[in-house]
Amino acid sequence: MRELRQDNLVAIHQTALLTARKFKPGETVDFVVVGSGAAGGVMARELSQAGFTVVVLEQGPRLGPGDFEHDELKYSYLSGITNDPAVSPQTFRDDPARTAERPRIGNSLVYARIVGGSSTHFTANYWRFHANDFNERSLLGGIPGTGFADWPISYEELEPYYTKVEWEVGVSGLAYASPFDPPRTKPYPMPPLPVKSSGVLFERGARKLGLHPFPAPMAIVSRLYRGRPACAHCGFCIGFGCEVMAKSSTLYTMIPEAEATGLLTSVWIAAHWPAIAAAAHHAEIEFFDAADAADVEVIAAQIVPSGATPGAREAHAVHFIDRALATFFSGWSQNFRAGLAQFQSGYRASNPASASFAKGGPDTQIAYLGTVDRTPFFETVRTLTLLGMFASPQYGGN
Ligand SMILES: Cc1cc2nc3c(=O)[nH]c(=O)nc-3n(C[C@H](O)[C@H](O)[C@H](O)COP(=O)(O)OP(=O)(O)OC[C@H]3O[C@@H](n4cnc5c(N)ncnc54)[C@H](O)[C@@H]3O)c2cc1C
Ligand code: SF4
Repeated sequence: MRELRQDNLVAIHQTALLTARKFKPGETVDFVVVGSGAAGGVMARELSQAGFTVVVLEQGPRLGPGDFEHDELKYSYLSGITNDPAVSPQTFRDDPARTAERPRIGNSLVYARIVGGSSTHFTANYWRFHANDFNERSLLGGIPGTGFADWPISYEELEPYYTKVEWEVGVSGLAYASPFDPPRTKPYPMPPLPVKSSGVLFERGARKLGLHPFPAPMAIVSRLYRGRPACAHCGFCIGFGCEVMAKSSTLYTMIPEAEATGLLTSVWIAAHWPAIAAAAHHAEIEFFDAADAADVEVIAAQIVPSGATPGAREAHAVHFIDRALATFFSGWSQNFRAGLAQFQSGYRASNPASASFAKGGPDTQIAYLGTVDRTPFFETVRTLTLLGMFASPQYGGN
C-alpha cells in the first residue's frame, strides 16, 4: 500500500518535471530568479503565470518524495539538505574593528540548499500577523538607537494576500478558534491537523490556567488538496523533507505550478556526498594516535557506561568519533585537538603520579571528569559518543 502510494507521488512529481520548458543556449528570457525557496518559488510562479519566461537558478539539487529519509545524523548534523559549512562557511563579528570569525561548530544560519529552499524543511507553522503588529511603533513608542518603525501597510491591506496564499499554498487551520484571531475574509481551506496525545494534555493544562489553546495554522494539508495527500504524521517535519508531499513547500506547490505554464526552466545541481564516501573507506583509527584514542574511549565509556546493556566501549564509539573527525566532521577537528590537549594537560597537572587519563583508574577518572564536564570539549565528546551509539553503520556508527 505504502509503495503504491509512493509510486503515485513520484509520478505526480515527474509529470511536473516533464512540463518544464527547455531554453536553448543564447535564448533570452524575461526573468532569472536566484534561489527556489519560499520567496524565489513564489516569484517564479507569479511571473510565469503572468506570461513571462523565467529561469530559476538553484544551487542545490532537486529532491522528490522518494529521496527524503528519516536519517537524523545526515539531516541534522551532516548538512544533508542544508548549507554545508565546508562549502559555504559563514563568519560573524559584533564590532567592525574585529576580524570576522567562523563559529566553533557548523554554521550559525542554517537554510535548506535544495529546490524549495527552507520551505522544504521548515516546520510549516503558518501564522498571520495581528493588526497591532503593523503599528507597534505608534502603540509602544520608539526604541532609542534603533530604526523601530510602523509598517507602511496595514493588516487590512494585507489580508486578501494572506487569504490568497493560504488557499493557493494549502494551509490547514480553524478560523477564529483563537479569540485573538484577526479578521479574515475566508476560513482556512481545510480543517486543522488532528491534535496528538501530547497536544491533548497541553490543551487541558492550558485551559486550566485560563489560556486559549487552539490548533496552529500549518502549511501542511490535512486532507487531499490540489493533488497532494494528507499528512501521514510521521513526525519528521522540522529539518526534513516530506515524503508524502503533504508539506506545502514551494517544491510541491509553486515550482510545479510554474513549470506547468511551460514558461519556466530551472537549473539545479546534483547531490554529492564526498565526506560520507570517505567515511566508508576509513581505517579503524586514523585521526587519533593510540594514547589519544585510549583517553577518548575512557571518556566515552563514562558517558555511556557498560552494564546490562552495551555501553560506548562495546559500541566502538571511539571509532565513530575518529572517523567523524577525519571525514564528515573534519571542521570540528581543530577545536577537538585543542580541547583534548587541554584536557590531558589539566589531568596531568592535577594527577602528576598518573601516566595518562586512560591509565588513571575509575575513581580518579570520574573525579577529573567532574571538573571538566561543562567544557565545550566534553560537550563535543558527549555529542559524538551519542551519535556513535546510534548512527547507522554507513557513518561508522554501531
Ligand atoms: C529549520 C527551520 C524551520 C523553520 N520553520 C518555520 C515555520 O515553522 N514557519 C515559518 O513561517 N518559517 C519557518 N522557517 C523560516 C522559513 O523557512 C524561511 O523564512 C523562508 O524559507 C525564507 O525564504 P527565502 O526564500 O528567503 O529563503 P529559502 O527558502 O531558504 O530559499 C533560499 C534558496 O536560495 C538558494 N540559494 C542561496 N544562494 C544561492 C546562490 N548563490 N545561487 C543559487 N541558489 C542560491 C538556496 O539553496 C535556497 O534554495 C524555518 C526555517 C528553518 C531553517
Ligand atoms: S507526513 Fe506530515 S509530519 Fe511527516 S513530514 Fe510530511 S507533513 Fe511533516
